[in-house]
Amino acid sequence: MTKIQNIVKNTENTLIPFYTRFDRVFVKGKGHYLYDIQEKEYIDFSSGISVVNMGHANKVVKKAVKKQLSKIWHISNLFHIPLQSDLSILLSEHSFVGKSFFCNSGTEANETAIKMARFIGNQKKDKKNKILALKGSFHGRTIAAISATGQEKYRKGFEPLLPGVDFVNYNDLRDLQDKFDDTVCGLFLEAIQGEGGVRPLSAEFVEQAQNLCRKHDALLIFDEVQTGIGRTGTYFGYQHFEVQPDIITLAKALGNGLPVGAVHTTPAVCAQIPTGLHASTFGGNYLAMSAGIAVLKLLDKKLLDHINALSKYIKNLLTELQEKFPKRISDVRIIGLMIGIDLIGIEVGKVILRLMNMGYITLRAGENTLRLLPPFTIGKTEIDMFVYALEQIISV
Ligand SMILES: *Cc1c(COP(=O)(O)O)cnc(C)c1O
Repeated sequence: MTKIQNIVKNTENTLIPFYTRFDRVFVKGKGHYLYDIQEKEYIDFSSGISVVNMGHANKVVKKAVKKQLSKIWHISNLFHIPLQSDLSILLSEHSFVGKSFFCNSGTEANETAIKMARFIGNQKKDKKNKILALKGSFHGRTIAAISATGQEKYRKGFEPLLPGVDFVNYNDLRDLQDKFDDTVCGLFLEAIQGEGGVRPLSAEFVEQAQNLCRKHDALLIFDEVQTGIGRTGTYFGYQHFEVQPDIITLAKALGNGLPVGAVHTTPAVCAQIPTGLHASTFGGNYLAMSAGIAVLKLLDKKLLDHINALSKYIKNLLTELQEKFPKRISDVRIIGLMIGIDLIGIEVGKVILRLMNMGYITLRAGENTLRLLPPFTIGKTEIDMFVYALEQIISV
């Protein structure tokens, strides 16, 4: 048995079979490079699903966490943890002046936001407890999060789900208007649906969403778990629109690989939250915070400019490719370094495998969309190489 076959067998023998996995084992990462157990080199166009945005084993983050490792790791939220305030201030600087809660994942951040919206709504006179979310959305895997996720495949088999959730057709102003009333306590949006297929919201839809939330006294919640931390060429995805969210939820790239989740909200919302309402044992511990602070310090205007320059570059190449192969690529959507390529007449799973054999790690999304979420360390040369490889695959 080969080394890999042995590892695969061990996975099968020891792990709950929630995942289907590729037969690859990565043992080292550096920037946008990955190395597998056979020392083969790959270029990562996935960032571990938009987690290592600053690159694998980022030096600055590593230095910060290493320094923290030798001081204190964990103490619990029974005590003040000054690094939490430091990270919250950085979040405020990059989004809006507000207050934060720290947890460990995206699903937990959304779970927290659901609880906040429900609790605040239930205090008001017209029993406000309905949550609205969009069809095609993804908000995580806990029962509450799948209850607010508008995709059947994540929900099936777990009924009864959390009641009081309704789904609006994506970008459908009429449907949003129809489903909104005074019983709505919160509306969940992704500025650009990630798992749903890299699908951006329209400016009109977001404007309408904000108006309806204000009119009906509901919280406007942006799930920035995938679109946050520079991914779309702005600090957060909602910044592509003229909108002021009441809550943003974060995770994925916030810790560049250390588990950090966050909820950031306005002082007005905070004023309605009593102590004891929610908690997390691990959330906001020193190690996680040291990573988050290092990441947000790296996330500056200069980095955004770099992301947007690369975005333009890849847009030109992919648009050309689409024009050359209209029977293989039906649409390309590029927002910062969040990229969706709709394939036709060729199965995206096969394309991903072929790219992997050629040394490129990519992702899928939606129905048949090839999704790219490269680390921000990526350069034009790597993009050229990737587009060339993709052309080889789709031109046959
Ligand atoms: C990944 C993701 C989540 C879930 O985050 P986990 O850390 O896996 O719990 C939630 N919302 C969006 C938009 C995501 O992309």
